[in-house]
Amino acid sequence: EGEGSVFSCRGVTVRYGDVVALADVGVAFERGMIHAVVGQNGAGKTTFARVVAGLVRPETGELSIDGRVLSGGDVNEARGAGVELVHQSFALPPSFTVAEAMQFGAKGGGLYTKSMLEKRWQPHLDGLDVKVAAKRRIRDLPVETQQGVEIARALVTDAKLLILDEPTAVLSPEGAQKLFERVRRLKARGVTVILILHKIREVLAVADTVTVLRGGRLVEGPIPCEGVDAGRLAELIIGPA
Ligand code: ATP
Repeated sequence: EGEGSVFSCRGVTVRYGDVVALADVGVAFERGMIHAVVGQNGAGKTTFARVVAGLVRPETGELSIDGRVLSGGDVNEARGAGVELVHQSFALPPSFTVAEAMQFGAKGGGLYTKSMLEKRWQPHLDGLDVKVAAKRRIRDLPVETQQGVEIARALVTDAKLLILDEPTAVLSPEGAQKLFERVRRLKARGVTVILILHKIREVLAVADTVTVLRGGRLVEGPIPCEGVDAGRLAELIIGPA
């Protein structure tokens, strides 16, 4: 298991004091697909996202990106391997312009002229159909556009695995449709996407596979979404009465 997958892990356990947030989780995600991770509040979804992104070091277990074993708990190591996380509440400073935001965290900025930099990031906005002027401030943009800028920014570093943690939580239903279109564009460009979601309807609308967490354990997955029954998925999420 895990051969040729873009991400795989096994035996991952994370504890916060007495709370077991993830217990012996093992999963492998195939490259170039949209993978949903679902579960109820407290199921461990955000912790899982943080483990993949190197923000949390598991107590036990092994992670690999592209077959390369990572030590875990190291954001720079994860980013170096091509992993980027977009949080539910965005990380870009609200006072930044779009141009500043797109350069945020990029390496070697000082060596390039403004127009060279713009050539580097503008295609990522265009590729996601984010229509916004470079001099607008983040705080003045509609939330869908802020999110679009944030996703595009993650791509500047050549992310091959993008994790979106509850990206629809801040969006209207129309905004969610726009996000799903952007996620499909990412897939078309070969980027693997892990989507943390909690609505079954959204999972079935956008994902290729679904992985279910319950009480920190992996219940099942990745299951191909094609032919997944919504009722059965709800049972997996909620668990036995
Ligand atoms: P939600 O949708 O509510 O964010 P989730 O599925 O993302 O839920 P996690 O946030 O990963 O779940 O939380 C898993 C468990 O770990 C929960 O019981 C939560 O209370 C606990 N937990 C998460 N972060 C911490 C922390 N920093 N300190 C203590 N307990 C934590």
